[in-house]
Amino acid sequence: MKISNLFNNNTTVVSFEVFPPKQTITLESIFKTTEGLQTLHPDFISITYGAGGSASDRTIETADKIKNTYGVEALAHLTCINSHKDEIDAMLNQLQSHKIENILAMRGDHPIDKTSCKDKTNAYQYAKDLIAHIKSKHDFCIAAAAYPEGHLECPNLSTDTLHLKEKIDSGTDFLITQIFFDNTVLYQFLNRIRQFNITVPVCAGIMPLLNSRQVARIQGLCGASIPKPLKTIIEKYENSPLDFEKAGIEYACNQIIDLVANKIDGIHLYTMNKLDQSKAIIEQTGLR
Ligand code: FAD
Repeated sequence: MKISNLFNNNTTVVSFEVFPPKQTITLESIFKTTEGLQTLHPDFISITYGAGGSASDRTIETADKIKNTYGVEALAHLTCINSHKDEIDAMLNQLQSHKIENILAMRGDHPIDKTSCKDKTNAYQYAKDLIAHIKSKHDFCIAAAAYPEGHLECPNLSTDTLHLKEKIDSGTDFLITQIFFDNTVLYQFLNRIRQFNITVPVCAGIMPLLNSRQVARIQGLCGASIPKPLKTIIEKYENSPLDFEKAGIEYACNQIIDLVANKIDGIHLYTMNKLDQSKAIIEQTGLR
């Protein structure tokens, strides 16, 4: 089923994101996680993709398990940076042959080590180009990434929103947001995109902070700002891992409860493959 058919005004679409383990670890570990997650009855589970196509087979195998063994809709991530057109087309054909109907289509991050990709030219410069290509040849439902605080490379929010509008016009069916820790930021983002006539459903990306190591990593990767109440938690529980995790889960739950009360289309939980913590969040928020 196409995920775009799941959105209506009465219920919140609930989804999880998982990542396949690195090549040296068997896929059994992720299958154990997805098996547990499917008992929470998500509307869909998304599976990340290594930019440049590294480990693309793992994304397909995990998506296949989710869709064809558990019967849960799978959203396969796909990036176009550092990829030839043939590689993208091969990936699209494989997804189709596994009956995967939904793709989160992205550009991907520029590799830190640029020498690793010097022989590759990008067939598609931006996500909008990849989305237009997929829509011209296939019948997938397409999700795109959105950035409530703006994408790190973009000079300002209105330019970023113009670029988002181009992604929508290329054929995006719904959006999933980057992590944010302040719901006000998300509500401002929603107002901003509506002014640009972007009306597709938006799934709000929520990630619980579970330990102090995560904080620097998240800020480096996506630049999400940390509001004062969350800073207080980080400082208070820095040296108390169990309390940190409990407070981080509670903070994420409060974000979700507020978003649902404000009729957000979807909650997309970045699970970091953590089953117990994801279960706790779904139970404490009454999402299922
Ligand atoms: P784009 O939409 O192409 O935008 C990239 C930059 O280019 C932005 O700054 C934008 O403003 C700018 N831009 C766009 N169009 C134009 C234009 N016409 N002219 C000039 N500038 C333009 N990465 C992975 O590698 N694997 C994953 O599985 C993955 N999953 C993700 C899931 C979610 C929900 C999110 C939010 C991000 C995910 N990412 C993933 C990270 C993502 O690949 C990066 O954020 C990447 O840097 C941007 O991808 P994009 O599709 O948003 O790019």
